Amino acid sequence: IMARKQSDLALRESRLLQEKQQLEADRQRELAEFKSRFYTNITHEFRTPLTVILGMSEQINGHERERELIGRNGRQLLGLVNQLLDLSRLESGSVGVHYIHDDIVAYLRYLTESFYSAAERRSLRFLFYSEENELLMDYDETKVMQIVNNLISNALKFTPAYGKVVVHTSRARTEEGEWLKLIVQDSGIGISSEDRARVFDRFFQVNGAAEGGTGVGLALTRELVDILGGTIEVRSEPGAGTTFEVRLPIRDDYRTAAPSTPGGS
Ligand code: ADP
Repeated sequence: IMARKQSDLALRESRLLQEKQQLEADRQRELAEFKSRFYTNITHEFRTPLTVILGMSEQINGHERERELIGRNGRQLLGLVNQLLDLSRLESGSVGVHYIHDDIVAYLRYLTESFYSAAERRSLRFLFYSEENELLMDYDETKVMQIVNNLISNALKFTPAYGKVVVHTSRARTEEGEWLKLIVQDSGIGISSEDRARVFDRFFQVNGAAEGGTGVGLALTRELVDILGGTIEVRSEPGAGTTFEVRLPIRDDYRTAAPSTPGGS
């Protein structure tokens, strides 16, 4: 009798534990859904009045300096709001991938070109170098653009005058398959090993500093790379520079791929 009671007890205990775990899982899911809804709503609410403020500021006559300040700060805030919105959409899994089939080397070269004047203004040497003349593959233009723009603008931002920024692309083969390898390397201030572990966290900035930054760019970049089935790594030596390496799988099946889900970005 004792033995049976004990085994009954054990059974009941394990059932209770299971129920508890289920409740906890439900709670976590609800919390995640709430968080994502909250982000999306609040960023939408921010965007509308900001757009009005920016539009109105353009119509003010005179007050050049004030107008410029309103414009610059407004655009910065709008940039942050848009980044947050992108991030929450990515995290909620509601973003689809939209592939085109084209030469990604030409596209990367084109994206890089728009940074030449910014680099020149900051007296930086800025180079694009590709080991492949062309590379036909499926890629998502908007997502690749966001990834590249985030990495290059960081490299320019955190590299003092007379430094160097290099964008390098090549093809890599591993056990898992073939990859497009994209390297953005700078000779800037670098990131300590302690901070390196956290640069992909949302809102993280070394020393909470960064001129006009938000700490969202790299979190967004990592989500984008993830959704494309790629990887991103950072190597750095404080004072000597930083290298971000992105790998995107070379896919060549967009014609046969399942149609992407509607409602994506
Ligand atoms: P933001 O640039 O808007 O501050 P990010 O998420 O893009 O946000 O970057 C987070 C932080 O990582 C930056 O504030 C900076 O401290 C550090 N960081 C990113 N890229 C570099 C780089 N190329 N060199 C040095 N530090 C960097």
